[in-house]
Amino acid sequence: MPIRQLSTHLINQIAAGEVVERPASVVKELIENSLDSGADRIRVDVEQGGTRRIRVTDNGAGIEADQLHLALAPHATSKIADLDDLEAVASFGFRGEALASIASVSRLRLASRPADAQSGQAIEAEGGTLSEPQPAGMPTGTVIDVRDLFYNVPARRKFVRTERTEFGHIDELVRRLALANMEVGFELFHDGRAVRRLAPVADQAGWLRRVSDVCGQGFVEQALELERDHAGLRLSGWVARPAYSRSQADQQFFFVNGRLVRDRLVAHAIRQAYRDVLFHGRHPAFVLRLDLDPRRVDVNVHPQKTEVRFRDGRLVHDFLFSTINQALAETRPGQGVAASS
Ligand code: ADP
Ligand code: MG
Repeated sequence: MPIRQLSTHLINQIAAGEVVERPASVVKELIENSLDSGADRIRVDVEQGGTRRIRVTDNGAGIEADQLHLALAPHATSKIADLDDLEAVASFGFRGEALASIASVSRLRLASRPADAQSGQAIEAEGGTLSEPQPAGMPTGTVIDVRDLFYNVPARRKFVRTERTEFGHIDELVRRLALANMEVGFELFHDGRAVRRLAPVADQAGWLRRVSDVCGQGFVEQALELERDHAGLRLSGWVARPAYSRSQADQQFFFVNGRLVRDRLVAHAIRQAYRDVLFHGRHPAFVLRLDLDPRRVDVNVHPQKTEVRFRDGRLVHDFLFSTINQALAETRPGQGVAASS
C-alpha cells in the first residue's frame, strides 16, 4: 500500500482507542472538563450502563459560541498554551483530545452558555461531521450528551460488558471524583432513577458526611484523621484502623492535587506503614490527599493520567510512610506500655 495521510476522523478514532475504553472513561473525561470549568454542580444521567446515553450537565464557565467547534477539534485546548504551562498544569485536561475522541466514536451534542451570553448554542457531531451552531435554551453552563457509544466501532463494542458492570464502573468513578472534590455537588441518575445525590460540602463536618456517603458509616467509625505539613508536602484525610481492613483493595482513595492516582510508590509507602498491623492478604482502607506544588509532580505520564511521577520520590515516600505509621502507632495496643517499661 502507498503511504497516505489519514483523515482527521480516523486519527481521532485511533486516539479514542487510548482515551475511551468504556462508558466510564467518557464520564471521567466529561466530569473532569466540568470541574476544570469551575462548576460546583454536576449532574450525570446515564442510560443502559452508559452504552445508550451519557449526559453530563454542569454550571461552569461555559464555552463561547464561536469556540464550540474548537472544543471538538483534536489537540485544541484552552488549558495550556506552551511548555511552561504544561510543566505547571493544574487542570485535569490539557491534551485537548478527549472531546474529539469521544465525538469520533459516538453521536455527540455539545450545548453551552457562558455567564455573559443571552442564550446557549449547541452543535452536534456524528461520523466526523459537525453541524452549524443552533440556539439552545439553557441556564449558564455546559451540557454534553453522548449517545450510542462505539456505534461505529464494532470491535470496541465487543469489549463493553453488561449494563450492570458498566454502570458499576461509572458509579465507582463518581464516588472517587466526589471524594476528591468535596465542594462540588454531584448527582448520578441511571435510567431515570437517582442513584447518588451528594450535596456540595461547605465545612469540615460535611467532609465526613461525604466520606460516609461514599465509603459507608463503618469506615467513618474506624477512621483516624490525619493532617501533616512537611517540606512543602501536605497530607490530609483518613486512614482506617486495622480492625477495618478489607478483603479487597476497594476502599483506597489517594489524590494528588485533587487528582485520583494509582501509583506504585504511594501504594508501597502505605503498605509499609500498615505492614505490622494488618494480617497477610488484608487491605487497608483510606481516603488521603497529598497536596504539593504542581511543578514537583509530573502528571504527563499516561493518557488516562492515573500514574504520576514525583520529582522527589524518596521524600514523598518517607513522608507518607512516617505520617501514616505514626497515626496507626497510636492505635497499637501495648505500644505505649512497651516503650515505657
Ligand atoms: P482538554 O480538557 O484536554 O482541554 P477536551 O477535549 O476535554 O480537552 O476539551 C477541549 C476544550 O473544550 C477544553 O479545553 C475546554 O476549553 C472546552 N470544554 C470542554 N468541556 C467543557 C465544559 N464542561 N465547560 C467548559 N468548557 C469545556
Ligand atoms: Mg478534558
